[in-house]
Amino acid sequence: MTRFIFITGGVVSSLGKGLASAALGACLQGRGFKVRLRKLDPYLNVDPGTMSPTQHGEVYVTDDGGETDLDLGHYERFTGVASRRSDNVTTGRIYQTVIAAERRGDYLGGTVQVIPHVTDAIKEFVYSNLTDEDFCLCEIGGTVGDIESLPFLEAIRQLGNELGRARAMFVHLTLLPYIPSAGELKTKPTQHSVKELLSVGIQPDLLMCRSDRPIPDGERRKIALFCNVGYEAVIPALDVGSIYQVPISYHEEGLDAQVCRHFGLEAPAPDLTRWHSIVKRIQQPEGEVTIAVVGKYMALLDSYKSLAEALVHGGIANNVKVKLNWIDSTIFEREDAVQHLEPCHGILVPGGFGERGVEGKMAAVRFARERDVPYFGICFGMQMAVIEAARHLVGLEGASSTEFGPCPHPVVGMMTEWQKGGQRETRAADGDLGGTMRLGAYDCRLIPGSRARAIYGTDTISERHRHRYEVNLDYKADLEKAGLLFSGMSPDGVLPEIVEIPGHPWFIGVQFHPELKSKPFDPHPLFTSFIAAAVRQSRLV
Ligand code: GLN
Repeated sequence: MTRFIFITGGVVSSLGKGLASAALGACLQGRGFKVRLRKLDPYLNVDPGTMSPTQHGEVYVTDDGGETDLDLGHYERFTGVASRRSDNVTTGRIYQTVIAAERRGDYLGGTVQVIPHVTDAIKEFVYSNLTDEDFCLCEIGGTVGDIESLPFLEAIRQLGNELGRARAMFVHLTLLPYIPSAGELKTKPTQHSVKELLSVGIQPDLLMCRSDRPIPDGERRKIALFCNVGYEAVIPALDVGSIYQVPISYHEEGLDAQVCRHFGLEAPAPDLTRWHSIVKRIQQPEGEVTIAVVGKYMALLDSYKSLAEALVHGGIANNVKVKLNWIDSTIFEREDAVQHLEPCHGILVPGGFGERGVEGKMAAVRFARERDVPYFGICFGMQMAVIEAARHLVGLEGASSTEFGPCPHPVVGMMTEWQKGGQRETRAADGDLGGTMRLGAYDCRLIPGSRARAIYGTDTISERHRHRYEVNLDYKADLEKAGLLFSGMSPDGVLPEIVEIPGHPWFIGVQFHPELKSKPFDPHPLFTSFIAAAVRQSRLV
Protein backbone atom coordinates (compact mmCIF):
# COMPACT_ATOMS: atom_id res chain seq x y z
CA MET A 1 0.00 0.00 0.00
CA THR A 2 1.59 3.25 -1.13
CA ARG A 3 1.19 6.31 1.06
CA PHE A 4 1.38 9.75 -0.54
CA ILE A 5 3.11 12.82 0.84
CA PHE A 6 2.34 16.06 -0.98
CA ILE A 7 4.92 18.80 -0.53
CA THR A 8 3.99 22.40 -1.29
CA GLY A 9 5.91 25.63 -0.83
CA GLY A 10 4.85 29.01 0.44
CA VAL A 11 5.99 32.62 1.00
CA VAL A 12 8.81 32.68 -1.59
CA SER A 13 10.34 30.37 -4.17
CA SER A 14 13.84 28.86 -3.89
CA LEU A 15 13.29 27.58 -0.35
CA GLY A 16 14.80 24.23 -1.25
CA LYS A 17 11.60 22.23 -1.60
CA GLY A 18 13.38 19.78 -3.87
CA LEU A 19 16.15 19.22 -1.34
CA ALA A 20 13.66 18.96 1.52
CA SER A 21 11.70 16.32 -0.42
CA ALA A 22 14.90 14.45 -1.28
CA ALA A 23 16.07 14.59 2.35
CA LEU A 24 12.72 13.30 3.63
CA GLY A 25 12.95 10.51 1.04
CA ALA A 26 16.43 9.64 2.33
CA CYS A 27 15.24 9.58 5.97
CA LEU A 28 12.28 7.32 5.17
CA GLN A 29 14.55 5.10 3.13
CA GLY A 30 16.92 4.99 6.10
CA ARG A 31 14.00 3.61 8.12
CA GLY A 32 13.70 0.75 5.65
CA PHE A 33 10.85 2.09 3.50
CA LYS A 34 10.79 1.94 -0.27
CA VAL A 35 10.32 5.43 -1.69
CA ARG A 36 9.65 7.14 -5.00
CA LEU A 37 9.81 10.88 -5.52
CA ARG A 38 7.88 12.89 -8.06
CA LYS A 39 7.62 16.47 -9.24
CA LEU A 40 4.52 18.21 -10.58
CA ASP A 41 5.48 21.38 -12.43
CA PRO A 42 2.82 24.01 -13.12
CA TYR A 43 4.45 25.61 -16.19
CA LEU A 44 3.06 25.18 -19.71
CA ASN A 45 6.08 23.68 -21.45
CA VAL A 46 5.49 19.98 -22.11
CA ASP A 47 8.89 19.32 -20.51
CA PRO A 48 11.92 21.50 -19.70
CA GLY A 49 13.81 20.16 -22.75
CA THR A 50 13.20 23.23 -24.88
CA MET A 51 13.87 25.77 -22.12
CA SER A 52 17.04 27.80 -21.87
CA PRO A 53 19.40 26.51 -19.17
CA THR A 54 19.75 30.06 -17.87
CA GLN A 55 15.97 30.25 -17.28
CA HIS A 56 15.20 26.84 -15.97
CA GLY A 57 18.53 25.34 -14.93
CA GLU A 58 19.72 21.89 -15.83
CA VAL A 59 17.53 19.42 -17.68
CA TYR A 60 17.86 16.16 -15.79
CA VAL A 61 17.73 13.12 -18.07
CA THR A 62 16.38 9.76 -16.92
CA ASP A 63 17.40 6.30 -18.15
CA ASP A 64 14.15 6.01 -20.08
CA GLY A 65 14.89 9.24 -21.93
CA GLY A 66 12.72 11.70 -20.02
CA GLU A 67 13.89 15.33 -20.01
CA THR A 68 12.90 16.39 -16.52
CA ASP A 69 13.21 18.97 -13.77
CA LEU A 70 16.53 19.27 -11.95
CA ASP A 71 14.87 18.34 -8.66
CA LEU A 72 14.74 14.77 -9.95
CA GLY A 73 18.53 14.93 -9.80
CA HIS A 74 18.36 15.73 -6.08
CA TYR A 75 15.91 12.88 -5.56
CA GLU A 76 18.18 10.41 -7.31
CA ARG A 77 21.35 11.64 -5.63
CA PHE A 78 19.79 11.43 -2.18
CA THR A 79 17.97 8.10 -2.51
CA GLY A 80 19.83 6.26 -5.25
CA VAL A 81 16.43 5.39 -6.75
CA ALA A 82 16.65 5.86 -10.53
CA SER A 83 14.14 8.48 -11.66
CA ARG A 84 11.84 7.72 -14.56
CA ARG A 85 10.05 9.79 -17.17
CA SER A 86 6.85 9.13 -15.22
CA ASP A 87 8.21 10.96 -12.17
CA ASN A 88 7.81 14.45 -13.63
CA VAL A 89 4.80 16.06 -15.21
CA THR A 90 3.94 19.61 -16.26
CA THR A 91 0.72 21.48 -16.97
CA GLY A 92 1.75 21.34 -20.63
CA ARG A 93 1.96 17.55 -20.58
CA ILE A 94 -1.36 17.23 -18.71
CA TYR A 95 -3.16 19.48 -21.20
CA GLN A 96 -1.51 17.66 -24.10
CA THR A 97 -2.99 14.38 -22.78
CA VAL A 98 -6.42 15.87 -22.14
CA ILE A 99 -6.63 17.61 -25.51
CA ALA A 100 -5.43 14.48 -27.36
CA ALA A 101 -8.23 12.54 -25.58
CA GLU A 102 -10.74 15.22 -26.57
CA ARG A 103 -9.66 15.00 -30.22
CA ARG A 104 -10.03 11.21 -30.14
CA GLY A 105 -13.57 11.68 -28.90
CA ASP A 106 -12.86 9.95 -25.57
CA TYR A 107 -15.09 12.37 -23.67
CA LEU A 108 -18.16 11.22 -25.63
CA GLY A 109 -19.47 14.68 -26.36
CA GLY A 110 -19.02 16.02 -22.82
CA THR A 111 -17.73 19.50 -22.09
CA VAL A 112 -14.04 19.21 -21.18
CA GLN A 113 -13.21 21.17 -18.01
CA VAL A 114 -10.39 21.80 -15.56
CA ILE A 115 -12.42 20.00 -12.90
CA PRO A 116 -12.81 17.05 -13.38
CA HIS A 117 -10.86 16.35 -16.60
CA VAL A 118 -7.59 18.15 -15.92
CA THR A 119 -7.59 17.21 -12.23
CA ASP A 120 -8.36 13.59 -13.17
CA ALA A 121 -5.36 13.56 -15.51
CA ILE A 122 -3.17 14.93 -12.68
CA LYS A 123 -4.46 12.27 -10.27
CA GLU A 124 -3.84 9.57 -12.86
CA PHE A 125 -0.26 10.77 -13.12
CA VAL A 126 0.20 10.66 -9.33
CA TYR A 127 -1.06 7.05 -9.20
CA SER A 128 0.74 5.86 -12.34
CA ASN A 129 3.67 3.48 -12.52
CA LEU A 130 3.82 2.57 -8.83
CA THR A 131 4.22 -0.99 -7.59
CA ASP A 132 5.40 -1.84 -4.11
CA GLU A 133 6.54 1.61 -2.93
CA ASP A 134 5.74 2.39 0.71
CA PHE A 135 5.84 6.11 0.04
CA CYS A 136 5.39 8.31 -2.99
CA LEU A 137 6.53 11.87 -2.30
CA CYS A 138 4.99 14.40 -4.69
CA GLU A 139 6.50 17.85 -4.78
CA ILE A 140 4.33 20.60 -6.28
CA GLY A 141 6.44 23.18 -8.11
CA GLY A 142 5.91 26.90 -7.65
CA THR A 143 4.54 28.73 -4.65
CA VAL A 144 1.08 28.53 -3.14
CA GLY A 145 -0.96 31.43 -4.49
CA ASP A 146 0.31 31.10 -8.09
CA ILE A 147 -2.55 30.96 -10.60
CA GLU A 148 -0.78 28.19 -12.51
CA SER A 149 -0.60 25.78 -9.62
CA LEU A 150 -4.32 25.87 -8.76
CA PRO A 151 -5.33 22.73 -10.73
CA PHE A 152 -2.50 20.81 -9.02
CA LEU A 153 -3.59 21.95 -5.56
CA GLU A 154 -7.18 21.03 -6.37
CA ALA A 155 -6.04 17.60 -7.57
CA ILE A 156 -4.06 16.88 -4.40
CA ARG A 157 -6.94 18.17 -2.29
CA GLN A 158 -9.17 15.60 -4.00
CA LEU A 159 -6.51 12.93 -3.49
CA GLY A 160 -6.34 13.74 0.22
CA ASN A 161 -10.07 13.24 0.40
CA GLU A 162 -10.03 10.00 -1.59
CA LEU A 163 -7.11 8.45 0.22
CA GLY A 164 -7.89 9.62 3.73
CA ARG A 165 -5.41 10.58 6.44
CA ALA A 166 -4.04 7.06 6.67
CA ARG A 167 -2.66 7.28 3.15
CA ALA A 168 -2.12 10.98 2.47
CA MET A 169 -0.19 13.73 4.16
CA PHE A 170 0.32 17.40 3.34
CA VAL A 171 3.68 18.98 4.08
CA HIS A 172 4.13 22.72 3.59
CA LEU A 173 7.52 24.43 3.41
CA THR A 174 7.63 28.08 4.40
CA LEU A 175 10.04 30.82 5.37
CA LEU A 176 10.52 32.61 8.68
CA PRO A 177 12.29 35.84 7.73
CA TYR A 178 14.51 37.54 10.31
CA ILE A 179 13.82 41.26 10.64
CA PRO A 180 16.99 42.90 11.99
CA SER A 181 15.31 46.09 13.23
CA ALA A 182 12.89 44.04 15.34
CA GLY A 183 15.49 41.42 16.15
CA GLU A 184 12.86 38.75 15.51
CA LEU A 185 11.91 35.89 13.25
CA LYS A 186 8.51 36.64 11.80
CA THR A 187 5.74 34.05 11.60
CA LYS A 188 3.14 36.15 9.76
CA PRO A 189 4.16 35.13 6.19
CA THR A 190 3.83 31.49 7.26
CA GLN A 191 0.39 32.15 8.74
CA HIS A 192 -0.70 33.81 5.48
CA SER A 193 0.69 31.03 3.37
CA VAL A 194 -1.21 28.40 5.36
CA LYS A 195 -4.35 30.55 5.04
CA GLU A 196 -3.84 30.54 1.28
CA LEU A 197 -3.61 26.74 1.33
CA LEU A 198 -6.73 26.53 3.49
CA SER A 199 -8.58 28.65 0.96
CA VAL A 200 -8.15 25.84 -1.58
CA GLY A 201 -9.21 23.25 0.97
CA ILE A 202 -5.86 21.96 2.15
CA GLN A 203 -4.96 21.87 5.83
CA PRO A 204 -1.24 21.06 6.09
CA ASP A 205 -0.33 18.25 8.49
CA LEU A 206 3.24 19.37 8.94
CA LEU A 207 5.11 22.63 8.43
CA MET A 208 8.78 22.89 7.63
CA CYS A 209 10.01 26.35 8.51
CA ARG A 210 13.13 27.54 6.75
CA SER A 211 15.11 29.91 8.89
CA ASP A 212 18.66 31.20 9.04
CA ARG A 213 18.76 30.88 12.83
CA PRO A 214 17.19 28.72 15.57
CA ILE A 215 13.46 29.25 16.00
CA PRO A 216 12.54 30.32 19.57
CA ASP A 217 10.04 28.05 21.29
CA GLY A 218 7.47 30.84 21.55
CA GLU A 219 7.48 31.34 17.78
CA ARG A 220 7.14 27.64 17.20
CA ARG A 221 4.12 27.48 19.51
CA LYS A 222 2.60 30.49 17.81
CA ILE A 223 2.89 28.87 14.39
CA ALA A 224 1.32 25.66 15.73
CA LEU A 225 -1.58 27.61 17.23
CA PHE A 226 -2.30 29.85 14.26
CA CYS A 227 -1.76 27.19 11.62
CA ASN A 228 -3.75 24.48 13.37
CA VAL A 229 -0.98 21.87 13.65
CA GLY A 230 0.69 20.19 16.63
CA TYR A 231 3.81 21.78 18.14
CA GLU A 232 5.92 18.77 17.07
CA ALA A 233 4.62 19.14 13.53
CA VAL A 234 6.34 22.53 13.21
CA ILE A 235 9.78 21.43 12.05
CA PRO A 236 12.62 23.95 12.10
CA ALA A 237 14.46 23.66 8.77
CA LEU A 238 17.62 25.59 9.46
CA ASP A 239 20.36 26.51 6.99
CA VAL A 240 23.24 24.02 7.03
CA GLY A 241 26.78 24.04 5.64
CA SER A 242 26.35 21.27 3.06
CA ILE A 243 23.27 19.96 1.31
CA TYR A 244 24.28 16.47 2.39
CA GLN A 245 23.77 17.52 5.98
CA VAL A 246 20.09 18.18 5.33
CA PRO A 247 18.80 14.60 5.95
CA ILE A 248 20.70 14.52 9.27
CA SER A 249 19.48 17.93 10.34
CA TYR A 250 15.82 17.33 9.40
CA HIS A 251 15.88 13.96 11.08
CA GLU A 252 17.23 15.53 14.27
CA GLU A 253 14.38 18.03 14.17
CA GLY A 254 11.92 15.12 14.06
CA LEU A 255 10.75 15.29 10.44
CA ASP A 256 10.59 11.57 9.64
CA ALA A 257 9.36 10.72 13.15
CA GLN A 258 6.39 13.04 12.60
CA VAL A 259 5.68 11.50 9.22
CA CYS A 260 5.65 8.01 10.79
CA ARG A 261 3.43 9.30 13.56
CA HIS A 262 0.97 10.78 11.06
CA PHE A 263 0.62 7.42 9.32
CA GLY A 264 0.65 5.46 12.57
CA LEU A 265 3.78 3.60 11.55
CA GLU A 266 6.25 2.01 13.95
CA ALA A 267 9.67 2.05 12.32
CA PRO A 268 13.20 1.86 13.67
CA ALA A 269 15.19 5.11 13.75
CA PRO A 270 16.82 5.65 10.36
CA ASP A 271 20.32 4.48 9.64
CA LEU A 272 22.02 7.68 8.51
CA THR A 273 25.60 6.40 8.82
CA ARG A 274 26.42 7.06 5.19
CA TRP A 275 25.27 10.68 5.47
CA HIS A 276 27.42 11.20 8.55
CA SER A 277 30.50 9.86 6.79
CA ILE A 278 29.90 12.02 3.69
CA VAL A 279 29.48 15.15 5.81
CA LYS A 280 32.63 14.32 7.76
CA ARG A 281 34.63 14.00 4.55
CA ILE A 282 33.21 17.30 3.27
CA GLN A 283 34.00 19.09 6.52
CA GLN A 284 37.47 17.66 7.00
CA PRO A 285 39.16 17.44 3.59
CA GLU A 286 42.86 16.67 3.41
CA GLY A 287 43.56 19.06 0.56
CA GLU A 288 42.05 21.22 -2.12
CA VAL A 289 42.04 21.27 -5.90
CA THR A 290 40.74 23.91 -8.29
CA ILE A 291 38.81 22.91 -11.38
CA ALA A 292 38.05 25.36 -14.17
CA VAL A 293 34.60 24.79 -15.62
CA VAL A 294 34.57 26.52 -18.99
CA GLY A 295 31.01 26.93 -20.22
CA LYS A 296 28.57 29.66 -21.03
CA TYR A 297 25.51 29.38 -18.81
CA MET A 298 27.22 31.17 -15.95
CA ALA A 299 24.25 33.49 -15.39
CA LEU A 300 22.49 30.59 -13.66
CA LEU A 301 24.74 27.99 -12.11
CA ASP A 302 21.72 25.69 -11.63
CA SER A 303 22.40 24.94 -15.31
CA TYR A 304 25.27 22.81 -14.06
CA LYS A 305 23.65 21.38 -10.92
CA SER A 306 24.48 17.69 -11.38
CA LEU A 307 27.91 18.54 -12.72
CA ALA A 308 28.81 20.63 -9.67
CA GLU A 309 27.56 17.85 -7.39
CA ALA A 310 29.44 15.13 -9.28
CA LEU A 311 32.64 17.17 -8.85
CA VAL A 312 31.92 17.39 -5.11
CA HIS A 313 31.47 13.60 -5.13
CA GLY A 314 34.83 13.20 -6.86
CA GLY A 315 36.27 15.30 -4.04
CA ILE A 316 34.59 13.13 -1.41
CA ALA A 317 36.12 10.03 -3.02
CA ASN A 318 39.59 11.61 -2.90
CA ASN A 319 39.16 13.35 0.44
CA VAL A 320 39.74 16.79 -1.03
CA LYS A 321 37.72 19.94 -1.36
CA VAL A 322 36.96 20.77 -4.98
CA LYS A 323 36.96 24.48 -5.66
CA LEU A 324 35.12 25.39 -8.84
CA ASN A 325 36.32 28.23 -10.97
CA TRP A 326 33.39 29.03 -13.27
CA ILE A 327 34.70 30.65 -16.43
CA ASP A 328 32.55 32.08 -19.20
CA SER A 329 34.21 30.81 -22.37
CA THR A 330 33.44 34.00 -24.27
CA ILE A 331 36.07 35.87 -22.27
CA PHE A 332 38.78 33.87 -24.04
CA GLU A 333 37.77 35.68 -27.21
CA ARG A 334 39.04 38.89 -25.61
CA GLU A 335 41.60 37.72 -23.08
CA ASP A 336 44.33 35.10 -23.14
CA ALA A 337 43.15 31.81 -21.66
CA VAL A 338 46.47 31.21 -19.91
CA GLN A 339 46.05 33.60 -16.99
CA HIS A 340 42.67 32.07 -16.14
CA LEU A 341 43.62 28.45 -16.62
CA GLU A 342 47.18 28.33 -15.30
CA PRO A 343 46.18 28.28 -11.61
CA CYS A 344 43.74 25.38 -12.16
CA HIS A 345 44.47 21.70 -11.59
CA GLY A 346 41.91 20.42 -14.05
CA ILE A 347 39.77 21.81 -16.86
CA LEU A 348 36.25 20.71 -17.66
CA VAL A 349 34.14 21.75 -20.62
CA PRO A 350 30.54 20.76 -19.92
CA GLY A 351 27.51 20.24 -22.16
CA GLY A 352 26.18 23.11 -24.21
CA PHE A 353 24.32 24.19 -27.30
CA GLY A 354 25.00 26.67 -30.09
CA GLU A 355 27.99 28.51 -31.46
CA ARG A 356 28.41 31.32 -28.96
CA GLY A 357 31.53 30.76 -26.86
CA VAL A 358 32.79 27.82 -28.91
CA GLU A 359 36.19 29.27 -29.79
CA GLY A 360 36.83 29.97 -26.10
CA LYS A 361 36.01 26.38 -25.20
CA MET A 362 38.36 25.21 -27.93
CA ALA A 363 41.10 27.43 -26.47
CA ALA A 364 40.56 25.74 -23.10
CA VAL A 365 40.86 22.27 -24.69
CA ARG A 366 44.03 23.27 -26.48
CA PHE A 367 45.56 24.67 -23.32
CA ALA A 368 44.76 21.44 -21.42
CA ARG A 369 46.08 19.21 -24.22
CA GLU A 370 49.30 21.13 -24.84
CA ARG A 371 50.08 21.89 -21.20
CA ASP A 372 49.33 18.38 -19.91
CA VAL A 373 46.58 19.61 -17.58
CA PRO A 374 43.81 17.05 -16.81
CA TYR A 375 40.90 17.60 -19.22
CA PHE A 376 37.36 16.31 -18.94
CA GLY A 377 35.00 17.03 -21.84
CA ILE A 378 31.34 16.24 -21.36
CA CYS A 379 29.04 15.94 -24.37
CA PHE A 380 29.68 19.31 -26.08
CA GLY A 381 33.05 19.24 -24.29
CA MET A 382 33.89 15.97 -26.05
CA GLN A 383 32.82 17.39 -29.39
CA MET A 384 35.06 20.42 -28.74
CA ALA A 385 37.99 18.10 -27.98
CA VAL A 386 37.47 16.23 -31.25
CA ILE A 387 37.20 19.44 -33.29
CA GLU A 388 40.31 20.84 -31.59
CA ALA A 389 42.23 17.63 -32.36
CA ALA A 390 41.01 17.66 -35.97
CA ARG A 391 42.17 21.24 -36.40
CA HIS A 392 45.48 21.15 -34.61
CA LEU A 393 46.61 17.50 -34.56
CA VAL A 394 45.28 16.34 -37.95
CA GLY A 395 45.62 19.79 -39.51
CA LEU A 396 42.10 20.01 -40.94
CA GLU A 397 41.49 23.71 -41.28
CA GLY A 398 37.83 24.61 -40.82
CA ALA A 399 36.98 21.39 -38.98
CA SER A 400 33.79 22.03 -37.02
CA SER A 401 30.30 20.79 -36.15
CA THR A 402 27.34 21.11 -38.49
CA GLU A 403 25.47 22.47 -35.46
CA PHE A 404 27.04 25.83 -36.41
CA GLY A 405 26.25 25.55 -40.15
CA PRO A 406 27.96 23.91 -43.13
CA CYS A 407 31.74 23.51 -42.83
CA PRO A 408 34.55 21.97 -44.91
CA HIS A 409 35.25 19.19 -42.38
CA PRO A 410 32.14 18.15 -40.41
CA VAL A 411 33.96 16.11 -37.75
CA VAL A 412 30.80 16.45 -35.66
CA GLY A 413 27.51 16.10 -37.49
CA MET A 414 23.85 15.41 -37.07
CA MET A 415 22.77 11.78 -36.95
CA THR A 416 19.45 11.13 -38.59
CA GLU A 417 19.40 7.43 -37.78
CA TRP A 418 20.66 5.13 -35.02
CA GLN A 419 19.80 1.96 -33.11
CA LYS A 420 18.20 1.72 -29.69
CA GLY A 421 17.52 -1.69 -28.17
CA GLY A 422 17.61 -3.30 -31.64
CA GLN A 423 15.14 -0.72 -32.98
CA ARG A 424 15.88 1.89 -35.63
CA GLU A 425 15.40 5.49 -34.49
CA THR A 426 15.19 8.24 -37.11
CA ARG A 427 15.17 12.03 -36.99
CA ALA A 428 14.61 14.65 -39.66
CA ALA A 429 17.05 17.57 -39.83
CA ASP A 430 14.11 20.01 -39.85
CA GLY A 431 11.99 18.16 -37.25
CA ASP A 432 10.66 19.43 -33.92
CA LEU A 433 13.22 20.46 -31.31
CA GLY A 434 11.29 19.11 -28.30
CA GLY A 435 12.07 15.55 -27.20
CA THR A 436 13.95 14.60 -30.36
CA MET A 437 17.57 14.39 -29.26
CA ARG A 438 19.39 11.12 -28.58
CA LEU A 439 17.98 10.76 -25.09
CA GLY A 440 18.40 8.40 -22.17
CA ALA A 441 20.53 5.35 -21.44
CA TYR A 442 22.66 3.74 -24.12
CA ASP A 443 25.23 0.97 -23.77
CA CYS A 444 28.82 1.63 -24.65
CA ARG A 445 31.66 -0.86 -25.20
CA LEU A 446 35.05 0.08 -23.81
CA ILE A 447 38.22 -0.67 -25.74
CA PRO A 448 40.60 -3.04 -23.87
CA GLY A 449 43.76 -1.32 -22.68
CA SER A 450 42.19 2.15 -22.70
CA ARG A 451 42.12 4.50 -19.71
CA ALA A 452 38.32 4.49 -19.84
CA ARG A 453 38.28 0.67 -19.55
CA ALA A 454 40.66 0.84 -16.57
CA ILE A 455 38.57 3.53 -14.84
CA TYR A 456 35.26 1.71 -15.20
CA GLY A 457 36.77 -1.74 -14.58
CA THR A 458 34.25 -3.34 -16.93
CA ASP A 459 33.75 -3.88 -20.67
CA THR A 460 30.25 -2.49 -21.15
CA ILE A 461 28.72 0.52 -19.46
CA SER A 462 25.39 2.32 -19.68
CA GLU A 463 25.22 6.10 -19.53
CA ARG A 464 22.64 8.79 -20.22
CA HIS A 465 22.62 10.96 -23.32
CA ARG A 466 21.11 14.26 -24.43
CA HIS A 467 22.46 15.58 -27.72
CA ARG A 468 21.60 15.91 -31.39
CA TYR A 469 25.06 15.72 -32.93
CA GLU A 470 27.66 12.92 -32.99
CA VAL A 471 31.35 12.56 -33.74
CA ASN A 472 31.64 11.65 -37.41
CA LEU A 473 33.09 8.16 -37.87
CA ASP A 474 34.55 9.14 -41.27
CA TYR A 475 37.31 11.01 -39.42
CA LYS A 476 38.09 8.28 -36.87
CA ALA A 477 41.11 6.83 -38.72
CA ASP A 478 42.77 10.23 -39.22
CA LEU A 479 42.10 11.32 -35.64
CA GLU A 480 43.47 8.04 -34.24
CA LYS A 481 46.60 8.36 -36.39
CA ALA A 482 47.09 11.82 -34.90
CA GLY A 483 46.86 10.52 -31.31
CA LEU A 484 43.20 10.53 -30.26
CA LEU A 485 41.93 7.11 -29.17
CA PHE A 486 38.27 6.25 -29.60
CA SER A 487 38.05 4.26 -26.37
CA GLY A 488 34.27 3.81 -26.13
CA MET A 489 31.90 2.96 -28.96
CA SER A 490 28.21 2.07 -29.22
CA PRO A 491 27.76 -1.75 -29.35
CA ASP A 492 27.14 -1.59 -33.12
CA GLY A 493 30.37 0.37 -33.52
CA VAL A 494 28.61 3.29 -35.21
CA LEU A 495 28.60 5.97 -32.50
CA PRO A 496 31.80 7.22 -30.86
CA GLU A 497 31.06 7.56 -27.14
CA ILE A 498 34.46 8.21 -25.52
CA VAL A 499 37.73 9.67 -26.77
CA GLU A 500 41.01 9.97 -24.89
CA ILE A 501 44.64 10.89 -25.50
CA PRO A 502 46.99 8.09 -24.44
CA GLY A 503 50.12 9.47 -22.82
CA HIS A 504 48.41 12.65 -21.61
CA PRO A 505 48.10 12.77 -17.78
CA TRP A 506 44.28 12.67 -18.10
CA PHE A 507 42.38 13.67 -21.22
CA ILE A 508 38.93 12.18 -21.70
CA GLY A 509 35.87 13.30 -23.59
CA VAL A 510 32.53 11.52 -23.24
CA GLN A 511 29.47 11.93 -25.44
CA PHE A 512 27.16 11.15 -22.51
CA HIS A 513 26.45 12.86 -19.18
CA PRO A 514 28.14 10.85 -16.40
CA GLU A 515 27.30 13.57 -13.86
CA LEU A 516 23.66 12.47 -13.92
CA LYS A 517 24.46 9.13 -12.30
CA SER A 518 26.94 10.24 -9.64
CA LYS A 519 25.87 9.99 -5.99
CA PRO A 520 27.58 11.29 -2.87
CA PHE A 521 27.77 7.75 -1.49
CA ASP A 522 28.65 6.29 -4.89
CA PRO A 523 30.79 8.83 -6.74
CA HIS A 524 31.01 8.29 -10.49
CA PRO A 525 34.30 6.58 -11.45
CA LEU A 526 35.13 9.19 -14.12
CA PHE A 527 34.78 12.03 -11.60
CA THR A 528 36.75 10.10 -8.97
CA SER A 529 39.54 9.51 -11.47
CA PHE A 530 39.47 13.08 -12.84
CA ILE A 531 39.77 14.59 -9.37
CA ALA A 532 42.56 12.11 -8.53
CA ALA A 533 44.39 13.39 -11.62
CA ALA A 534 43.79 16.98 -10.46
CA VAL A 535 45.28 16.06 -7.07
CA ARG A 536 48.41 14.75 -8.86
CA GLN A 537 48.50 17.94 -10.92
CA SER A 538 48.23 20.09 -7.78
CA ARG A 539 51.41 18.50 -6.49
CA LEU A 540 53.23 19.56 -9.67
CA VAL A 541 52.26 23.22 -9.73
N1 GLN B 1 24.99 20.71 -28.78
C1 GLN B 1 25.53 19.37 -28.79
C2 GLN B 1 24.58 18.40 -29.45
O1 GLN B 1 23.38 18.64 -29.51
C3 GLN B 1 25.91 18.90 -27.40
C4 GLN B 1 24.75 18.75 -26.49
C5 GLN B 1 25.13 18.64 -25.04
O2 GLN B 1 26.22 19.02 -24.64
N2 GLN B 1 24.26 18.12 -24.22
O3 GLN B 1 25.01 17.37 -29.90
